[in-house]
Amino acid sequence: MAEQIDCNLLVAKALTLAGVTHMFGVVGIPVTSLANRSVASGVRFIAFHNEQSAGYAASAFGYLTHRPAVLLTVSGPGAVHGLAGLSNAAANAWPLVMISGSCNQFDAGRGDFQELDQIAAVKPFVKFSVKVKDIREIPSSVFSVVDLAGSGRPGGCYLDIPADVLHQSLPESEANRLLDEAERNRTIEPIKNVANDEIAKAISVIRKAERPLIVFGKGAGLARAEDEIKLLVERTGIPFLPTPMGKGLLPDAHELAATAARSLAIGKCDVAVVIGARLNWLLHFGEPPKWSKDVKFVIIDIDEEEIALRKPYVGLVGDAKRVVKVLNKEIKDDPFCLGRSHQWVEAITNKVRENVSRMEAQLAKDVVPFNFLTPMRIIRDAIIGLGSPAPILVSEGANTMDVGRSVLVQTEPRTRLDAGTWGTMGVGLGYCIAAAVASPDRLVVAVEGDSGFGFSAMEVETLVRYQLPVVVIVFNNGGVYGGDRRNPEDITGPYKDDPAPTSFVPGAAYHLLIEAFGGKGYLVGTPYELKSALTESFSARKPAVINVTIDPFAGAESGRMQHKN
Ligand code: ADP
Repeated sequence: MAEQIDCNLLVAKALTLAGVTHMFGVVGIPVTSLANRSVASGVRFIAFHNEQSAGYAASAFGYLTHRPAVLLTVSGPGAVHGLAGLSNAAANAWPLVMISGSCNQFDAGRGDFQELDQIAAVKPFVKFSVKVKDIREIPSSVFSVVDLAGSGRPGGCYLDIPADVLHQSLPESEANRLLDEAERNRTIEPIKNVANDEIAKAISVIRKAERPLIVFGKGAGLARAEDEIKLLVERTGIPFLPTPMGKGLLPDAHELAATAARSLAIGKCDVAVVIGARLNWLLHFGEPPKWSKDVKFVIIDIDEEEIALRKPYVGLVGDAKRVVKVLNKEIKDDPFCLGRSHQWVEAITNKVRENVSRMEAQLAKDVVPFNFLTPMRIIRDAIIGLGSPAPILVSEGANTMDVGRSVLVQTEPRTRLDAGTWGTMGVGLGYCIAAAVASPDRLVVAVEGDSGFGFSAMEVETLVRYQLPVVVIVFNNGGVYGGDRRNPEDITGPYKDDPAPTSFVPGAAYHLLIEAFGGKGYLVGTPYELKSALTESFSARKPAVINVTIDPFAGAESGRMQHKN
């Protein structure tokens, strides 16, 4: 009888051929063998406690490497937990492939074990989904989900493999033929070349601008457009503003960085070149009162629909790296540069200097019990002290993330991961694990609120199990926004003696959690204690949790988002 190949091995082979190198997930019926076969085929499988964290990890891995990783889940509830990762990938436009086992096809509709119509469940969050009905459909389906997740505007794709299909096998020669055929018929979304007249229109409006601004975001990070953007900024002398995750594409300390003069930059610019960033809530929809009503946008985006939605003055559809390269070439042939003494550049740099020195005066104080600023300054200085390769910073929380965004410094591309487009809380540990696995030469430092940490704190065991160089710093103010801030008239009714909805156990010993698994924990409450914990843990490059006691009444409810509360 001809050599047979089982479905689990066929999926693993197809994944490696399609370029998948990493899987994040939780094993169980019916996918345990699929995980094992994938490892045996050369894929790294990182096993989590919860699919939610595994999904966040897989989405961040896709962003950092621009290649989709696989999120592997069991059927029913496992797939539902996985939706967290899939939806996060969709909202952030990051590549991700979720693969779930599902119940036997012939038992569907009869109340089978962990039965769910998973294709219907994933629908709002995917570019493409497919349920295979037979082992012969595996190769082409695997290539489709991998290729569509990673090309065009990246996003999530879903592959559903019923248990009975996973138990099928077929002759090896037929498997190889199907794999060859699938590889030949790949479906990568083509990238258009921008029309010359659109480029000319863009250059003309930028050249005529009196107060131009370059804005870039995580799409430019995905495109690895940092060298081209640096050239554009330096050749034209135009100030720039990164979005939160765009930070680091150019160093925060660059002389044309307008980050510390954000309100002035976006409020007064007359032309904004937006590269790989959506004019969504994070950029105030590009509308007044934050932006001037007459501002002309030049948007560079890989997604034609995004440009159609925002209706800019000029829309350049294409890959950011390629499009900015074309702009640079055109500008080089007929150069212009604002120069330091240009009125607009001077206004921005003066405002930056003023705001930075005001902030530094606040940061210079050693406030104990800790507010948010004092420990953030100490962490900033410790991170800067590490030099290059800079650590990847993971940040979440309300006040912790907001303060960290202004204080912590990014010097290298793709070294910041935060709550992102969706404001997703609970991403921290998953992002840490993805960052450590995607960039083994970098330390990973998470600066998290205690609430954000709590979503996935059990994954500290995963850090220890894989011995990842991750230091998690928990800003512990004993609650979602810290202490109980309710008005006395709200503390009534039969359950008035319950803890406030925002409260956690005061003084929670989060550092002991990691010690339960053999990692290193620190409890700190003073500048000296924090500095020595950072020095020791950064040089050890081993999993650690630093539990930083913060004044429960420092910071504000909802951080800087109170207007949306
Ligand atoms: P940020 O949160 O940093 O503002 P967004 O996630 O809102 O960024 O926007 C990223 C944008 O980048 C998306 O509209 C996406 O279509 C786009 N994008 C993704 N990849 C590329 C690429 N290679 N070139 C240009 N644009 C890209």
